[in-house]
Amino acid sequence: MSLPTTELKSILLAKRATLLGEEKQVAQLESKCNTLDAVDAAAKLTEFNNQTALINRQTQKLKEINSALKNLARADYFRCKECGGDINKRLAIMPTASLCVACQENREEVGKH
Ligand SMILES: [Zn+2]
Repeated sequence: MSLPTTELKSILLAKRATLLGEEKQVAQLESKCNTLDAVDAAAKLTEFNNQTALINRQTQKLKEINSALKNLARADYFRCKECGGDINKRLAIMPTASLCVACQENREEVGKH
């Protein structure tokens, strides 16, 4: 049995809203930096760099969420993109997953070399 797509969709939309909210905070931080003196700005810059790294990761996640939202309507959303195995259980925990655990691990293993 497949997971209810409406539920998955609301999970994905909520995740996306959180990510977008955090991006807004970084933008605010950036504009604050412009009004600080040098010492404060240096401290803020470190914070800002950390945030930027975080945002880059989140932008990637956002892409995954958007494509998951797009794929949600397709029958193969519930199938592993590599082996075609059922990934319902995985999607329940991670709605942006596109591979089964075995294929995901395989891919990460290949990525290391
Ligand atoms: Zn697989």
